Formats: sequence, C-alpha cells, structure tokens
Amino acid sequence: MGSGIKRALSYKTVLLTLLVYSGLVLLFTLIGVIFAPPSAQIGQTRPADTIPEHVLELAGFGLVLGLGLAVVYGRKGLPLVFLLPVLTVLLDLDHLPAYLGIAQTIRPAHSLVFVATALAITAITIKHLEVDLVVLSATLAHMGIDTGLFAPLSPINFDYVPLDPYKVPFLVVAVLAVFAGGFVLRWRGLRIEPVAGELARSALP
Ligand SMILES: [Zn+2]
Repeated sequence: MGSGIKRALSYKTVLLTLLVYSGLVLLFTLIGVIFAPPSAQIGQTRPADTIPEHVLELAGFGLVLGLGLAVVYGRKGLPLVFLLPVLTVLLDLDHLPAYLGIAQTIRPAHSLVFVATALAITAITIKHLEVDLVVLSATLAHMGIDTGLFAPLSPINFDYVPLDPYKVPFLVVAVLAVFAGGFVLRWRGLRIEPVAGELARSALP
C-alpha cells in the first residue's frame, strides 16, 4: 500500500478489515440501542439450537463466494477466501445486546445505510478496491440468506420491512461483487507485476 508497487493483499490488511468491520457493526448496534424509539427495540435472538446451523450456512455461502475468487484468480485471491466468510458471519455481531438481555432494534447493521457506510469507511481506511467489493459481497450475501424483518435505513429510520423481496437482488449483487473483486485482482496482477519486474531488472548492476 502506498509504495507504488502493489502486492497481493496481506493478511495484516485482512485483519485490519475485520477490525474495522466489527467496529462498524457494533457502532450501528450501539446507535440503535441509544437512539431508536422504544417501540422499535424489539430485536430478538434466534432460538439457541438454530444458531450453529445458521452460522454454518452463512460461513458456508461466504466460503463458496470466496473460493470463486481463488478458483478463478489463484493465489492472490487466498486472503480474500478467508476474509469473505468471516465478514459474512461477523454481521450478526449486531445481535449482541439481545444476547446480553438488553433491548435493541431488529438487525441494526443489516441495512443499506450500513452497506454504504462500510464501503466508504473501508475505502478510506483499507484502500483496496477488492476489499471494498468483498465487504459489499459478504454483507449482501448475509442479508440475502437471512429471513424475517430488517430496517433498510437503520440507524436513521427503524421502519421494518420483510427481507424476502430483497433476497434475490442482494444475492445477485453479492455474486457480481465477487467477480468484480476477482477482476480487480487479475487487473493488478497483469498490470503491476511487469512494472515490478522492470524495476528489479533496472536495479541490476
Ligand atoms: Zn443476520
């Protein structure tokens, strides 16, 4: 990053992305807990015995999307193969208050405002286009798998609507974003490596 010669994404960048993303999910959750009207604080946890299955479903789909990157684009996609399923699962951190017995809104970070904010913040802090595309893909994949209600404009507005009509568009964009992420990796590989090679040659005596 910033050196002019870009390399494959590092696991340090992946870890930083996970921290930034988790922080944003928790921030949206906190805003909901503090500012949402009591009538909107009706978020529940799902029955405990269905949680492992749901987490596996989310991680599994994230892994399939991530593997799409690796299969098509090889070794450079590997850090993203790890990043995608973990991000897909991390969105559910926004159920934390309900687990702790605190009143909260339904799915405060499962929102279009969250998607836009997460993209803007990762663009500013992480500065890798392929990471932005993976954040978009993971978040929409998660929302495309969930069922029930969500507030598309949370935490600005807590009007709940069913997720069902949004599922297909969310899943389509999630898949397209992965392919776009793969193209970014490929474009970098083709465009940037020859420059690195030239630099290496020009450094020879
Ligand atoms: Zn969820």
